[in-house]
Amino acid sequence: MPIQLYNSLTRRKEEFVPIDPQNVRMYVCGPTVYDLAHIGNARAVVVFDQLYRLLRHTYGEGHVTYVRNITDIDDKIIDAARANGEPIDALTRRTTDLFHQDMAALGALPPSLEPRCTAHVPQMIAMIEQLIATQHAYAAEGHVLFAVGSWPRYGRLSRRSRQELLAGARVEVAPYKRDPGDFVLWKPSTPDQPGWDSPWGRGRPGWHIECSAMSEAHLGPHFDIHGGGLDLIFPHHENELAQSESAHGGEKFVNFWVHNGFLSVDQTKMSKSLGNFVTARELLQHDVPGEVIRLALLSTHYRDPLDWTEAKLEQAEQAVFRFYVALNRGKPLAIDLSPGPPAVVLEALQDDLNTPLALTHLYELAHSINRSHEQGDAAGRSRDQAALAAGGRLLGLLGRTPEEYLKGAQASDAALIDSRIAARAQARKEHRFADADKIRAELLATGIVLEDRPDGTTDWRRA
Ligand code: AMP
Ligand code: ZN
Repeated sequence: MPIQLYNSLTRRKEEFVPIDPQNVRMYVCGPTVYDLAHIGNARAVVVFDQLYRLLRHTYGEGHVTYVRNITDIDDKIIDAARANGEPIDALTRRTTDLFHQDMAALGALPPSLEPRCTAHVPQMIAMIEQLIATQHAYAAEGHVLFAVGSWPRYGRLSRRSRQELLAGARVEVAPYKRDPGDFVLWKPSTPDQPGWDSPWGRGRPGWHIECSAMSEAHLGPHFDIHGGGLDLIFPHHENELAQSESAHGGEKFVNFWVHNGFLSVDQTKMSKSLGNFVTARELLQHDVPGEVIRLALLSTHYRDPLDWTEAKLEQAEQAVFRFYVALNRGKPLAIDLSPGPPAVVLEALQDDLNTPLALTHLYELAHSINRSHEQGDAAGRSRDQAALAAGGRLLGLLGRTPEEYLKGAQASDAALIDSRIAARAQARKEHRFADADKIRAELLATGIVLEDRPDGTTDWRRA
């Protein structure tokens, strides 16, 4: 089954056909490194990591180039460095390291390339010069602006009218702009601000030109997928699209524009500026396993809004725990991953990255393992354990050994609960119903609810 992806440009699901299956190319806007990543940022990283994993599975590990930049020059960085009394490069290096650690904990693979803006200023200057030469941009008072009027397709990605474009960008009306919708490609720096020499004086690039220049430098002028959060469609991606296509004589820039939905708290988008955020690092420091956070993020389809709650995290914790308990049934020495992920899991992901459906198939496998185990069907149990482990891997989950994951308090809980469930089953088999009920009540007193299934097996959950 081919991969289907929703394309924000056409507003429909389309079959994904790579430009070159030997080198599938994806660019995703990365973090602005002035502060820790919150779990809204983490959602974007995990979603595109999931797409990267699917592409690698489909086209081969060596046939996908995933570029995610590091924005290490930005006014927020300048302000944060000043507030901390820290040199800019020390702040950006430190924050980049923390970002790498946090995303690795969430099971996100490092991208193939991670270009930094400050290492690509010459390419940005070259692209701006090209835009000026082709009359898509003009220099004025130390600034260079993109002339939106020179690009009739402007607004095509975000499908906004001119009025909406102006309102959405909260455009600055400046005397040097020919049109209030024109946006900055280059701006002057004061002596105390970081800057680079350029044909327009000492200054620094605008945000949008960074991604146009870095994607071209590493993926060429035309590539397969460009991703980011929904908030980037306008103005960031609209502007990137205008710059890149007009710098290349109108040649197509990107085939698929892919955007993840927002992660919210009480229905309000999580953001640094609102202060309603929780960082990945805080959760990890409170002993929430990275896998649990990842599963919580993947439990909602990437295009749907995800309202973050404590209950979602607890459900995810329980799910990961149950997966490892299932993988540990019969204490297998090693699980053979060679049959690969089950077709249903793969098909769910191929359908516009339907991770909730893929997870549902994993839950079914865990249940089936428990049933086989109770019924003494070792072959069926091993087969499903292999499928669960391989399906989990494709989702960036279940990469640890069950012993490793289950060690600690919860593990002893699990072993104890299992032995109590077995004792209860035995009691029921021998018609000692009072004993069986006593075990159920004891477990309930410790917060464990037993659920008898129609097929005669027993599952449990935390109350
Ligand atoms: P920023 O550092 O704010 O530029 O964001 C980095 C990435 O995280 C971008 O792809 C954003 O679209 C994404 N992002 C930021 N906030 C959220 C959120 N609340 N939910 C989902 N994605 C977000
Ligand atoms: Zn970008």
